[in-house]
Amino acid sequence: KELSSSQVRQMFLDFFKEKGHDVEPSASLIPVDDPTLLWINSGVATLKKYFDGSVVPKNPRITNAQKSIRTNDIENVGKTARHLTFFEMLGNFSVGDYFKKEVIPWAWELLTSPKWFALDPEKLYVTVYPKDQDAKALWEKTGVPASHIFEVEDNFWDIGEGPSGPDTEIFFDRGQQYNNVADDDPENYPGGENERYLEIWNIVFSQYNHLPDGRYVDQPHKNIDTGMGLERVVSVMQHTATNFETDLFMPLIKYTETLSDHRTYGADKHDDVAFKIIADHARTVTFAIGDGALPSNEGRGYVLRRLIRRAAVNGRRLGIQGEFLYQLVPVVGNIMQSYYPEILRNQEFIQKVIRSEEKRFAETLDAGLSLLNKSIADLQATGETVIPGATAFKLFDTFGFPVELTKEIAGDQGIDVDMKGYEANMTAQRERARAARGDQQSMGSQDKTLMAIKSESKFTGWTDLEDQATLTD
Ligand code: ATP
Ligand code: MG
Ligand code: MG
Ligand code: MG
Repeated sequence: KELSSSQVRQMFLDFFKEKGHDVEPSASLIPVDDPTLLWINSGVATLKKYFDGSVVPKNPRITNAQKSIRTNDIENVGKTARHLTFFEMLGNFSVGDYFKKEVIPWAWELLTSPKWFALDPEKLYVTVYPKDQDAKALWEKTGVPASHIFEVEDNFWDIGEGPSGPDTEIFFDRGQQYNNVADDDPENYPGGENERYLEIWNIVFSQYNHLPDGRYVDQPHKNIDTGMGLERVVSVMQHTATNFETDLFMPLIKYTETLSDHRTYGADKHDDVAFKIIADHARTVTFAIGDGALPSNEGRGYVLRRLIRRAAVNGRRLGIQGEFLYQLVPVVGNIMQSYYPEILRNQEFIQKVIRSEEKRFAETLDAGLSLLNKSIADLQATGETVIPGATAFKLFDTFGFPVELTKEIAGDQGIDVDMKGYEANMTAQRERARAARGDQQSMGSQDKTLMAIKSESKFTGWTDLEDQATLTD
């Protein structure tokens, strides 16, 4: 069955509506009253209020398609088939209502029924926590043969203290042609680090309370929390090699081709990584700025800066000159308009912010790249392998290179960065700045213009933001 991404999203929500769930809208990427999180990174993250009992939901059955950002996956983007920095997590949730014996057959029905996703059951595998024989028995009862069930020690969801429990994960076998590990490699199984078995859905059985003394006691109310990656399921439905050849990304890649120096997607491995990074980062920064984040030198703003600058470097690799990422905003808006019409509505503002950040970096990008490349070449000539902290700091302070970017570019050539030395330079600079400016907040010398943009962490509404943002173009 070939479904569009909008159809897959809608079908998931419709399925759980039929099972008595209320649909919650996709909440802002910026956490509200949750200092533990930089970004909303899963569907359950926005529903904590129901699970910790501070708010009682109207209906204990909830379903959503939730925008999520994961910065821990930045460097996986373009390198694995399945990782993005921005993705949508489809989820169904039970707040003390249904539990394992309902959720397991439902998951199977949605995935395999001809009325729904109609995936070939032969290609599905599940993993369970070894001590959770309940889950195993329920999968078998639902029709999954024992040969497709793997017991995996990692299948336990635990954040230290509080609700915890075993989980079960569902994998799609993309076939041997996608495998990047040998048949006898210990990672060659669903749940292992390989490109054949794609994790599409994670179902958590939150049944214990992990006490401070280390004991696990039964929770009075057992909860269900699930997450399915929309882009991954779409790649399965559209039979693509990675997340990127789907209708969620191809228009972005096609547009980037037209900006590039005669490059085409699929012709060169290195170019393809650059195309993927640009398409991914374009979505992430578009949605994050749409939700009120702005580039800056710390926290969320630093993440945006890192992503925009990393996209810029990858643009150079495709022979793109000048600012370009902002041009992808309307493309993102068009792809996503059925569920996120606000992007097209706010596109002018989002474009302005991205363009201004691109422009600022464009002034130093080429000079920074030549300093970095020269530094790498010098090291290689003498057989050394570590870029001094002072160089990495100069790249940041004078040329606007986030140190992670320096590390990544150097890493591709087998060169490390002296991070301790970098931090020491950073601390020294902060101290100098503090001494010079009293207690005013210090920012790198790249940020004179952006200092005019106040990076509020709380969304204050468009009018407010536009008043605050004195952009430079
Ligand atoms: P993986 O092992 O592939 O990194 P995960 O176990 O970290 O995934 P979960 O935390 O279980 O992911 O999130 C639930 C679901 O969200 C996953 O099963 C997957 O479908 C999707 N997902 C997670 N991380 C990403 C990502 N970086 N890009 C796209 N989809 C993701
Ligand atoms: Mg992960
Ligand atoms: Mg996993
Ligand atoms: Mg998982």
